[in-house]
Amino acid sequence: MKLPVTCAQCMQEDIANAMITATVEFKDDGRYEILCPKGHSSITLLQQQKFEILFDIGAYAIVDGYYREAVSSFTSALERFYEFFIKVVCISKNIDWSNTQEAWKEVSNQSERQLGAFIFLHLQETGSKPTLLSNNKIKFRNEVVHKGKIPSKEQATEYGQAVLDVVRPLLKKLKEEYGDAVGMATFQHLSNTRNPSDDGVAVSTMCISTILSLSNGEPAHDDRSLKDAISQLRRW
Ligand SMILES: [Zn+2]
Repeated sequence: MKLPVTCAQCMQEDIANAMITATVEFKDDGRYEILCPKGHSSITLLQQQKFEILFDIGAYAIVDGYYREAVSSFTSALERFYEFFIKVVCISKNIDWSNTQEAWKEVSNQSERQLGAFIFLHLQETGSKPTLLSNNKIKFRNEVVHKGKIPSKEQATEYGQAVLDVVRPLLKKLKEEYGDAVGMATFQHLSNTRNPSDDGVAVSTMCISTILSLSNGEPAHDDRSLKDAISQLRRW
């Protein structure tokens, strides 16, 4: 899975004729430094949150035949989505960002703590407990991730679909009812991605269409099954 990037300076000079100047490997920090054929050095910041990227990595792993890796990436996408949900709710309560980060440190190394935080924040926000992955799916995931089970393509796809079914209604809720906080979280994410050394260099922000997407507003995009979404993936 690669990311097509356009030179930020070429875009500033002539946006109509700026072309994709590099395809890069995905990075953890979402910050891509590229040198274009015209000799410009520029920075591209990827707007997508971790859960959006991780879920797509899982989908591409299915295309490539790495089903264990797909299950692992879908699982990470779900965990990072819970983190995003928690942080957006905190932002919506006007809690100071540094305080939220401090609190997150206490749960950051233990996914069970994060899940607990998510369940009770969800209860507090909506009055009911969230729909989680079924016990069958959790058992399957543990067998794959911890016991070396080799899943079939169908099993990995079903698992990804189950993750999609858990995240989508929550994502919809965040987009509809927590729009301002989601915007703040995006702003925060991009400022964290930026480096102090980027001042004075052409910097652009890039938005890609992921299967789980904070930015895509078309209902049809979110109605697709994972199987359909996979069949529409682009390769760079
Ligand atoms: Zn350029």
